[in-house]
Amino acid sequence: MKITALYEQLNMKSRSEEKVYACIQKRVINRRRNSKVSLKWICLMLVVVLNQGLAYQLYNNIVEDKVWKRGETLLGFLEENRLPLSLYYNLDDNEEKLTSDIQSSTLYQILRDQNGEVRQALIPLNEELQIHIYREGEGNYTLSIDPVRYQTRKMALALDIRKIFSTDIVEHTDNFPLAVGLEQLFTKDVAFEKLKKGDKVVAYYTQKVRMGKFYGTQKIDFAMLKTGKKTYYRTLADDGKYYDEKGRSLEHSSFIVPCKYRRISSPFTLKRWHPILHKYRAHHGIDYAGKIGTPIRAAYDGKVIFMGRKGGYGNTIVIRHKGGYKTLYAHLSRFNNRVRGKYVKKGTIIGFLGNSGMSTGPHLHFGLSLHDRWINPARKIVLTKALHGKAREAFLTKFHRYQKRATALTEEESAKTGG
Ligand SMILES: [Zn+2]
Repeated sequence: MKITALYEQLNMKSRSEEKVYACIQKRVINRRRNSKVSLKWICLMLVVVLNQGLAYQLYNNIVEDKVWKRGETLLGFLEENRLPLSLYYNLDDNEEKLTSDIQSSTLYQILRDQNGEVRQALIPLNEELQIHIYREGEGNYTLSIDPVRYQTRKMALALDIRKIFSTDIVEHTDNFPLAVGLEQLFTKDVAFEKLKKGDKVVAYYTQKVRMGKFYGTQKIDFAMLKTGKKTYYRTLADDGKYYDEKGRSLEHSSFIVPCKYRRISSPFTLKRWHPILHKYRAHHGIDYAGKIGTPIRAAYDGKVIFMGRKGGYGNTIVIRHKGGYKTLYAHLSRFNNRVRGKYVKKGTIIGFLGNSGMSTGPHLHFGLSLHDRWINPARKIVLTKALHGKAREAFLTKFHRYQKRATALTEEESAKTGG
C-alpha cells in the first residue's frame, strides 16, 4: 500500500473520535427527558471516553488512537515508541516550543506494522497544524510539521427551540462544537433553562469539513436568539470580537494585558508559512517584549495551577479561570512565590518578566486557552467598549445584512413547520 494512501487514511478525523461524538449525541438525546443535561457533563463524558484509548485495524497495520497525557513530552513519546531521539534534537527553537504546547488529552494516532513498529504518527499541535512522523526505510524516520487539510463551508442554522438549547442544536446539526460555541455567545444574557418552546435561534457560520465530516471549531459570523419578546444579536466584527446590534462590546470578562511592554514582538498565529525557512510555524500566544523584572500580573481572577519550569517556556505560570479559560505566562525571571497554588485577583503580581527557556530576548509569552484549545488572547483583551467611526459604520452594515437574512430565514422556517 502506498504511503500517501495510508497518510490520507490516517489523516482522517479519527473514527473513534466520531464514535465519541455519536455516543455523546445519543446520550444527550436520551437524556433530553431529564431536561438537566449540561455541557459540563458532556465535556466530562468526552474526557472519560477519550481517555480509554482505542485501536482498530487498517489493512495489515494497526491504527492506535491515543491520548496525549498530562505532562507527556515529545522526547518521552519518542523514547516510549523506540523512535530516534534525533527527531526531537533536530527541531529548531520554534518547533521545540510548539511541542511543549501539545495540550493534554489531545487525540493522536499511531500506525504500526504487524511487528508493532511505528510506520507513522500524527500528533495535532492545534486545529491547523500537526506533527507527522513517518518511516522512510529501516529505522529511518522523518518528522515534519504539516497543515491539517480541510475545506470550509458557509452554513446557516435556523431552529425553533423545543426543549433544551444545546441538545436541540446537536440533534438538528450533528455539530456539538457549534452548540458549545453558541451557548458561549449568549451565556451572559440568557438563562438557557428558562427558554421556552418556540424561542428561535439563527446562526451563520463558517464550518471546517475534513474528509466529509465536520472538523474543529467553527467561526460564528452572526447569531440571533429570540426569546419571548426579546431578541439578542451577536455579530463578529472585523477585529475578531463580537458586538451587539448597536456595536457595543459583549466581553463581560475582559482579560487585561499582563504587563507593561515596549512592543509586541510576535503575534498569535495557528498556521503561518515561513517563506525563508520553508516551514510551517505557529505561535500560541502573544510575545510582549519588555524590560527584565517588569511585574507580570494575572490577566483575570483565577487559581494558580502551575508554577515551575516547562520545556522551552522556561519559568512558567498557568492560571485557571472560570468558563474553561486558562492563561499561561512564560520566560519569567522569577515567581511571586506567595501566590503559588492560590486564588488570585485580576491584576495581582504573579512573577517578573525574564528571558528563561528558549527565548531570543527578554519578553513575556502570554497564552490563552479555552477548553484546552489555544485562542488568540487579543480577542479577549477589550480596550474599546464600543465601536466608533468607520469601524462602527462597517459593522452596522454587516449586521443589518445578516439581520435581514436571519429574519427571512426564520419566516421561511416557521412557514415550513407551520409554527
Ligand atoms: Zn511566544
